[in-house]
Amino acid sequence: MAASYLQEEHEIFRESLRKFLEKEAYPNYEKWEEDRIIPREFWRKMGEQGFLCPDIDEKYGGSNVDWGFSVIINEELERVGSGMVGIGLHNDIVVPYITAYGTDEQKEKWLPKCAAGEIITAIAMTEPGAGSDLAGIRTTARLDGDHYIVNGEKTFITNGIHSDLIIIACKTDPHAVPRHKGVSLLAVERGTEGFSRGRKLNKVGLHCQDTAELIFEDCRVPKENLIGEEGKGFLYLMEKLQQERLVVAIAAQVAAEEMLKLTINYVKNREAFGKPISQFQNTQFKIAEMATDIEMGRVFLDQLITEHMAGKDVVTKVSMAKWKLTENASKIAAECMQLHGGYGYMEEYEIARRFRDIPVASIYAGTNEIMKTIIAKNMGL
Ligand SMILES: Cc1cc2nc3c(=O)[nH]c(=O)nc-3n(C[C@H](O)[C@H](O)[C@H](O)COP(=O)(O)OP(=O)(O)OC[C@H]3O[C@@H](n4cnc5c(N)ncnc54)[C@H](O)[C@@H]3O)c2cc1C
Repeated sequence: MAASYLQEEHEIFRESLRKFLEKEAYPNYEKWEEDRIIPREFWRKMGEQGFLCPDIDEKYGGSNVDWGFSVIINEELERVGSGMVGIGLHNDIVVPYITAYGTDEQKEKWLPKCAAGEIITAIAMTEPGAGSDLAGIRTTARLDGDHYIVNGEKTFITNGIHSDLIIIACKTDPHAVPRHKGVSLLAVERGTEGFSRGRKLNKVGLHCQDTAELIFEDCRVPKENLIGEEGKGFLYLMEKLQQERLVVAIAAQVAAEEMLKLTINYVKNREAFGKPISQFQNTQFKIAEMATDIEMGRVFLDQLITEHMAGKDVVTKVSMAKWKLTENASKIAAECMQLHGGYGYMEEYEIARRFRDIPVASIYAGTNEIMKTIIAKNMGL
């Protein structure tokens, strides 16, 4: 049964996106993984076809459609491979900071190019010394006339190499008590004096996703690049992290569905002891267990998407979905690899790549341990 937030126009959109990805992404994905980057040209093609930021206003180059279209984009990109995650991050995680908190001038300047794939965005919160403890960041932004002078270092930044516009979390008041009240968001543009990129990081998986370090040394960011109000950055992050975590949960669910599909196909075709391995009871039980977890995950996820689209407070449920669905997917990756036998460990089988790609979903967008602390806190513990 289709989810309640999906109408006929969503399915038509999905069909056209699938056709586009079959031509432009699936045949090239392996090469992108080898190159360790997705070419900018692909972003521009996504933009030309209306597959970037469809939910933003038409006057800024979007299609002004509901978030169900973004869900479809995230799902279909994940079907290609988890390395496409930077596109969903651009559409549903970074650009929303501009649409929600940006000034009219900022929106006019950046949004049309974001929708066209001419500006690629990133969000830079994490630092070498602060990840989960976000209020502990050390990057500072000191106001000096018309500019903020930014100093600090960010790491693990998705789209770190390609990004033209990076929203950074920094301390405009390093002595604020409580600490989070000193956090602000600034938009740093490519080519800004004092901004440079560090290493492109060599990861276990997500090989085609460019993840990098960013360095700010007396970096001069115009005052008008402040996003929203000074000192409210932490609040904005807490609000927008809900959608980020939901996007990670969606990707994990789709990854699990894809891995099960691959495995069912494999076990029906692989023979041992004179019969397909799908006929062993152990295989059947494993598949039945995974199918059950996937079905339950899908029902919970679709309900959550519906509630999120209706503007309900989904903080606790999003945290539940993020940890549970990413953990499900990691377990399923291991079971599916086992059912592939030795072939599952070979790179030419897709399950090997998915097995490498999935564990990070338990780490980024807030670790699964942090998700449990949020759930416990909201339960009054
Ligand atoms: C591929 C990749 C892409 C990423 N993309 C981005 C990005 O685009 N932008 C960005 O800003 N960041 C990004 N990150 C960073 C990511 O969000 C952080 O790695 C994550 O938040 C964890 O922070 P940390 O690595 O510093 O680990 P730490 O915070 O040092 O945590 C280490 C361990 O301690 C546990 N721990 C920490 N605090 C607690 C606690 N209170 N209770 C229980 N356990 C705790 C954690 O759960 C974890 O298991 C990315 C990371 C990766 C790997």
